[in-house]
Amino acid sequence: MKLKDTRNDFPILDRLNRGKPIAYLDNAASSQKPNCVIDALSDYYRRFNSNVHRGIYELAEEAESLYTNARKCIADSLSVKQNEIIFVRGATEGLNLIANTLGRSVLKQGDIVILTEMEHHANIVPWQMICEQIGATIKVVPVLPDGSLDLEKLFDYLSIEKVRVLSLCATSNTLGTVNPIKEITKEAHKHGTYVVVDGAQSMPHEKIDLSECGCDFFVFSGHKVFGPMGIGVVFGKASVLDDLPPYQGGGDMIDQVSFEGTTFAPSPQRFEAGTPNVAGAIGLGRAIHYLDQLDMNEVHMHEQNLLKVAQEQLHQIDGFKEYGTTVDKAAVISFTIDSVHPHDLASILDAEGIAIRTGHHCCQPLMKTLGVEATARASFAFYNTTEEAERFANAVKKSVSILS
Ligand code: PLP
Repeated sequence: MKLKDTRNDFPILDRLNRGKPIAYLDNAASSQKPNCVIDALSDYYRRFNSNVHRGIYELAEEAESLYTNARKCIADSLSVKQNEIIFVRGATEGLNLIANTLGRSVLKQGDIVILTEMEHHANIVPWQMICEQIGATIKVVPVLPDGSLDLEKLFDYLSIEKVRVLSLCATSNTLGTVNPIKEITKEAHKHGTYVVVDGAQSMPHEKIDLSECGCDFFVFSGHKVFGPMGIGVVFGKASVLDDLPPYQGGGDMIDQVSFEGTTFAPSPQRFEAGTPNVAGAIGLGRAIHYLDQLDMNEVHMHEQNLLKVAQEQLHQIDGFKEYGTTVDKAAVISFTIDSVHPHDLASILDAEGIAIRTGHHCCQPLMKTLGVEATARASFAFYNTTEEAERFANAVKKSVSILS
């Protein structure tokens, strides 16, 4: 599939925002959905809706088969086994699942979990909660002035004996920094440390091969990879998942239940209590299939070009500051402009049809390090155009002349 032909697959991009053609540059928060995903959802509810697992009629068998195929499609795309793919509500639930299962089974009092300063709250708070219960502590790897991770410090921390888990993002939602996950995982594994990767921001931008990467866990949200809201994935290595306790209890995750005690199903069912989001899983499978038809190198080059077009213009503005300047960063620009409040800027851009996000981006600890309360953030996806990147930069320039 050619990148230039994809724009028409996204009907929402034809709508207006405040009466102007929308330039949707808030893709790091949530991405838009192609027709094939929207159709998969409505098709499921029109033609296949029924509960999965144990249905002895044609309709239920068809729903089950679509659900199973979605898991297979995602597993194949990531080069892992089907029983290593657990459906959850999103990256947040995935990280809570990992903190509560891996955390509870491997952490003891006095142990250490390593996080980084660039983490989203979803990869901080679940670990804080579990560490507090267990009496474990958290060590935080600093971010360097260009937004890259202090790898020297990280590797130092990994050599501390009590470190059991490292949990970090593959790509920062605020800085755009792309962390060298494969290299980090290799080093962590030398010390017997489990590696959990928050892939929420890397999945939409690069081809992920988890058999290559080597991490123990990887999570992502469907709604950021052109799939539905309310569905996401935890990948866990089968050898690790097999030894973990369940997350939530209920139907569909058991082997045998009696009042004397309960035994549990193998993975992934052990981690999927209750009726799953069947339509969401099918829609996500469709989104991953759609992405797999794209040349992700072409996507990367296109997004980098959008970034460059916007950066060139924005850096001409007096008082403009970009946070995260590593050369190979993802197509995300977080910035402030002296004496211009990010919210005011976003309101003026909104009136021009341009959708960006402002605030702390669920990264309050990172904001503290950067010395700001909030930034404005534009984030690109493959369907954005050069014209949109130019419109955005010109509108920022115009806003500054109004606001300062
Ligand atoms: N991790 C990162 C890096 C994110 O950017 C986000 C969302 O912005 C999340 C986790 C949480 O994702 P969700 O809200 O879909 O669970």
